[in-house]
Amino acid sequence: MESPPVITAPSGYLARVERSLCAGCGRCVSACPFGAISLDGEEKAVVAFDLCMGCGLCVERCERGAPVLVRDGRKGIPLDIDELLQPRP
Ligand code: SF4
Ligand code: SF4
Repeated sequence: MESPPVITAPSGYLARVERSLCAGCGRCVSACPFGAISLDGEEKAVVAFDLCMGCGLCVERCERGAPVLVRDGRKGIPLDIDELLQPRP
C-alpha cells in the first residue's frame, strides 16, 4: 500500500469532477488520503470541498480525465517553486 502524501496545508487548488466523464470506478475514492471524494447516488464522483486539500492524487488516478484541479481562492495562493528559486537582486 502506498504511503499517503505528506501535506499539512491546502495546495491552493481544489478538485472538481466533470460528471459526464466519470465512469464511477471508484479509483479516485480509494486514492484520496483525505476522504474528500466519494461516489454519489448516481455512481459519479463528487468532491467535499471543505475536505479537499488539492493534492491531485485523484487527478493522477483517474484514467478518464474526470477530476481536474482548479484554483480555490479561499485556500491561499499556491507556491510558485520556479519563482522562489529565481536569484534575488
Ligand atoms: S477515477 Fe475517474 S472515472 Fe473513476 S470514479 Fe473517479 S472520477 Fe470517476
Ligand atoms: S485533490 Fe487530493 S484531497 Fe482533493 S479530492 Fe483529490 S485526492 Fe482528495
